[in-house]
Amino acid sequence: MTDFSLNLNEDQLQIQKWVHDFAEGVIRPVAEEWDEREEFPWPVVQEAAQIGLYGVDFLMNAMGDPTGLTLPVAIEELFWGDAGIGMAIMGSALAAAGIAGNGTPEQVMEWVPQCYGTADNVMLGAFCVSEPDAGSDVSSLRTRAVYDEAKDEWTLNGTKAWITNGGIADVHVVVASVDPKLKSKGQASFIVPPNTPGLSMGQKYKKHGIRASHTAEVVLDDVKVPGSCLLGGKEKLDSKLARARENVSTGKQPAMATFEATRPAVGAQALGVARAAYEYSLEYAKERHAFGKPIIMNQAIAFKLANMATEIDASRLLIWRAAWLAKNGTFKNGEGSMSKWKASETAVRVTEEAIQILGGYGYTREYPVERWHRDAKIHTIFEGTSEIQQLVISRAISGLRIE
Ligand SMILES: Cc1cc2nc3c(=O)[nH]c(=O)nc-3n(C[C@H](O)[C@H](O)[C@H](O)COP(=O)(O)OP(=O)(O)OC[C@H]3O[C@@H](n4cnc5c(N)ncnc54)[C@H](O)[C@@H]3O)c2cc1C
Repeated sequence: MTDFSLNLNEDQLQIQKWVHDFAEGVIRPVAEEWDEREEFPWPVVQEAAQIGLYGVDFLMNAMGDPTGLTLPVAIEELFWGDAGIGMAIMGSALAAAGIAGNGTPEQVMEWVPQCYGTADNVMLGAFCVSEPDAGSDVSSLRTRAVYDEAKDEWTLNGTKAWITNGGIADVHVVVASVDPKLKSKGQASFIVPPNTPGLSMGQKYKKHGIRASHTAEVVLDDVKVPGSCLLGGKEKLDSKLARARENVSTGKQPAMATFEATRPAVGAQALGVARAAYEYSLEYAKERHAFGKPIIMNQAIAFKLANMATEIDASRLLIWRAAWLAKNGTFKNGEGSMSKWKASETAVRVTEEAIQILGGYGYTREYPVERWHRDAKIHTIFEGTSEIQQLVISRAISGLRIE
């Protein structure tokens, strides 16, 4: 076990500066442009790959840090740069986490690198759980996976909704129902390798925020994958299904296991957006004059900023604690959910207050705070809405099946 410390070590400080420099020098200057274009920012992701910020080595190194803090520290800086581009760079990590959380060591070695490709041939991963009729209620997935024993082959059919990198990814990780009667206990995760026939992109969504990140439907029409693409392998699945049929605990379900591990990271994304808005509005409040003095000289404005600073620090402390716990013990009271819930709600409030501090300018697209407000909102929705985080926390603290 590693001691919990608020002092970042030399490596973490270096990574923090490295990501910050990229966010400031490369991402911020083009953030508005990619938001307006609503397109995947390939040149920026390629540049991130060239310096090693987008790539399997960076992810593995950051995830291998025994304190757990390297990843949230890096993500905060990246999303401080821009959340849409940040998501374009981080989107593949969800697929990688889905593989790492459910796959065998051999599957992890084979497929995680393919979610990233190389610096000269950038590839993407997508993690496909949500469906038009099943977002929060993951137990109701309709996508079916049927096994043909003679061919050792699975056939997948269904439609996935709101998938980051959906249809443009090289590797799609798909959670599907193998035995619908067992609800979430009858689900498994599958790799759909690059260029597999039957997988296509449905509609690409036009979004409120993180518009540089690609979000689309994924249609699975008789998609056939070999038995080796079942994450964790057939033996493990069969024994899990047998236990579920006998009503014995089957451990964590595939989608849930992935989301639990990624919650502090999603909190760190929101934190980056909140900090960007806070820093900007603090400087603005010192410079903008009304009634003959800087607006910050009014308590009404100064107290807003005091509140923003405090909420941001509280969010960071929860995120760092959760990230450390994820590596050094386990979540007991829904600490991962606490961090994601607090940081995402903070980001929405802080960015709204930032608009208020900038007044009319804040409401226009000439200034970045309205974009940050739009970007902040997604964090209260994806990877478990704020209500679902509260459900997880209330079940953890009470030991009861709160509905
Ligand atoms: C930009 C974007 C990117 C995304 N990326 C991905 C991705 O890469 N992969 C993926 O699989 N999914 C992705 N999603 C989907 C996302 O995870 C879901 O939208 C989210 O989980 C909510 O599900 P839903 O939209 O069906 O809302 P619903 O589940 O229909 O919820 C609607 C409302 O009801 C509330 N609610 C539902 N159940 C309860 C309850 N039991 N108690 C209290 N309140 C409740 C919710 O909190 C919410 O406020 C993405 C979504 C967006 C918008």
